[in-house]
Amino acid sequence: MVVGTHRATKLLIDRQAIRHNIKQQQKKLTPDTALFAVVKANAYGHGLVAVAQTALEAGAKGFCVAILDEGLALRQAGLTQPILVLGITDPEQAHVAAENDISLTVGSLEWFTAYQKLPQSKQPLKVHLALDTGMGRIGFRETPELKQALAVVRTAAFDFEGVFTHFATADEQDDHYFMQQFHKWEMLTKIIDPLPRYVHVSNSATGMWHTNIAGNMVRMGISLYGQNPSGDVLQPSLALQPAISLVSKIDFVKPLHAGECVSYGATYRAEQDEWIGTIPLGYADGYPRAMQGFHVLVNGQFCEVVGRVCMDQMMIRLPHELPIGTDVTIFGRQGDQQITVTQIADYVGTINYEILTGLAPRLDRQYLN
Ligand SMILES: *Cc1c(COP(=O)(O)O)cnc(C)c1O
Repeated sequence: MVVGTHRATKLLIDRQAIRHNIKQQQKKLTPDTALFAVVKANAYGHGLVAVAQTALEAGAKGFCVAILDEGLALRQAGLTQPILVLGITDPEQAHVAAENDISLTVGSLEWFTAYQKLPQSKQPLKVHLALDTGMGRIGFRETPELKQALAVVRTAAFDFEGVFTHFATADEQDDHYFMQQFHKWEMLTKIIDPLPRYVHVSNSATGMWHTNIAGNMVRMGISLYGQNPSGDVLQPSLALQPAISLVSKIDFVKPLHAGECVSYGATYRAEQDEWIGTIPLGYADGYPRAMQGFHVLVNGQFCEVVGRVCMDQMMIRLPHELPIGTDVTIFGRQGDQQITVTQIADYVGTINYEILTGLAPRLDRQYLN
């Protein structure tokens, strides 16, 4: 993987914003509730290890990742806090988790059976049982199978560390389905006695809009990065600060005459004489190809993206001739103006999560504060 450290296009990540967002969430938690920073997918594009370290400074007690390799990368970076893999890990690889003190999610009896057939690792495997209360993704769904799982997970090969569920609609106005899931959760967890160390139901949206929900651990993802989990649907109940911005510099400037076109497909034609700037950034960096017609910030002014975004370059219409090297903000703040990741997501019909996790590895990530 090549990282572009010799180009003007880069991601700026404000560590202070991450610390601020975590502290905002902590204010809403009881003192016995552990905040786990969800740092899967390269910390939502912000950089796995840098974000994990920043989260610790702000009081995070552990980490959630999607896949075992992300957990191993945290261990290799010297982090010793609890790590939970939220997805299903192949039983054949589970010994690697046990050897590295990484906790795994288990959501089926078949998984336990497969694991028990393998040579046992010396260390007990730390396990969180996933309960599927309506997300329909992974987890135990009925009391009888959960009872059997409890009998297994309480044997010596395992350290029964947690139980959790995940809500499908915590970011919506209508809480009907949310309450249905919550009641299923209460029904299933009734039979778990004693409860394990960590009982958790809260992603960002639940931690923000359903704060009276039980549990002693929260899995804080998108809000840690200062992004609203609902896009713009619900107002955040925390004063979030977006941590990431994408900046570049104009590297080519030219006058375009009325009738002349820009970029592949010649889908943009100048109606009058105008100035066009080129920016060294494209869809290979994670800025969607379909952003034609949207805008970026130059000198605190919105400038339209003209023509199709190319793989590595894109063009904007300038208010007048500007020097090469002029700063451009693709998202983030510039002067009094701001472009949010959610606005970009809305423009192409997706969610802020997808834009963030699509930010390419080749973008240099620079950390402030
Ligand atoms: C990704 C994920 C989270 C974090 O979700 P956010 O909406 O980003 O807070 C929490 N729990 C589970 C199970 C997840 O997969």
